Amino acid sequence: MSNLLIVKGHFLYTKTAEKFEVHKDMFLVSIDGIVEGIYPTVPDRFKGAQVQDYGDRLIIPGFVDLHLHASQFLQCGVGMTKQLLDWLNDYTFDLEREFQNLEFARKAYSCFADKMVACGTLRSCIFASSSTAGTEVLFDVLKEKGIGAYVGKVNMDQNGPDFITETTEKSLEGTKYLINKFKDEPLVKPIITPRFAPSCSTELLRGLGKLALEYQLPVQSHLSENIDEVKWVQSLFESAKNYSDIYLTNNLYGQTKTIMAHAIYLDDDEKKLALKMDPFLVHCPDSNINVRSGIMPVREYLNMGLKIGLGSDIAGGHKMGLNEAMVRAIQLSKLVALNDEELQPLTIAEVFYMATKGGGSFFGKTGSFEKGFLFDALVIEDDNMIAEMYSLEDRLEKFIYTGDDRNIIARYVEGKCLSPIASRT
Ligand SMILES: [Zn+2]
Repeated sequence: MSNLLIVKGHFLYTKTAEKFEVHKDMFLVSIDGIVEGIYPTVPDRFKGAQVQDYGDRLIIPGFVDLHLHASQFLQCGVGMTKQLLDWLNDYTFDLEREFQNLEFARKAYSCFADKMVACGTLRSCIFASSSTAGTEVLFDVLKEKGIGAYVGKVNMDQNGPDFITETTEKSLEGTKYLINKFKDEPLVKPIITPRFAPSCSTELLRGLGKLALEYQLPVQSHLSENIDEVKWVQSLFESAKNYSDIYLTNNLYGQTKTIMAHAIYLDDDEKKLALKMDPFLVHCPDSNINVRSGIMPVREYLNMGLKIGLGSDIAGGHKMGLNEAMVRAIQLSKLVALNDEELQPLTIAEVFYMATKGGGSFFGKTGSFEKGFLFDALVIEDDNMIAEMYSLEDRLEKFIYTGDDRNIIARYVEGKCLSPIASRT
């Protein structure tokens, strides 16, 4: 049988946000990159096949980062005393300009992609920069690394520095070029990416919405991140009912699969609209703290039934990988609960679900080890002493809180192993 993979170890994943599914010492069978089942022994029909035995290590679904900026990766941890709009003006835009230089773009994006792979971020939704040629480089780099992503050329034709702002026509043209070049790629695909409403004229928004419908492409943008930004949007788009309405009326909010990062200050109408249009709202806790944006009311949104994923929001967030985002989401929810005890803090299973199956559903069937899901997985190694002392769930929690890329010894995307297996006796 071609592309048969049998992996042995302790499997942990979240079918629902309520609890972990734990399969101790089991065999997972994947055929053509798709999970066939998890068994206590190798089923007869696969007898004789080679088994990749990971012993006492944990095997979990790969992480899904629903919001980050590849062109800001080098800036992680810089300018962290600024508020959002100052931070963009003082640091971010200058760096984004560099991505017009394709040699620079290749080097910087390779660094970025290596770190993604190392941290176990196997699927992600990425903002590149406004440079069409630079964004093309990012597509190529990610394809070479073998990880899954939606990549967007950043559209902006107003209210930004001249050196990264394009004409409406050029912005649309470049977007169309990338769509046509990459729309049939299996792993790295295009996504429509207006930077945020203030950066785009109504004509550009309308044009992007048209492309999204015409090619049935997903959309990603920012929504209601920061109070100053929300006020600015109100003054720029006076006739709009609210911030969400600007995207909605231009076919950029739920008409095709949509991701909105942050969504912190939604008014009641916007919350109802989110329920109706069903976008993925992305919680980026580190970024929200760093540039002093606020705290997403995650528990309220979950109670309403909204879809929530997690994002590192590099470089508003200072660390790549989802460990950090999961921990910070729990910590922030505890602070919120101090003021309102009805808003229960998030659990480890809930944030893990957001970082795997919840966010993963944007890509289809990934983020879980249920039958029929893509086998995107990470193999986690911890210290022998820890492994002897703690339960499998405790070990996973410990990895989430204290671990990092050094604990990940193998990564699989659709059943294909990305990195060599480290040796440990
Ligand atoms: Zn962002």
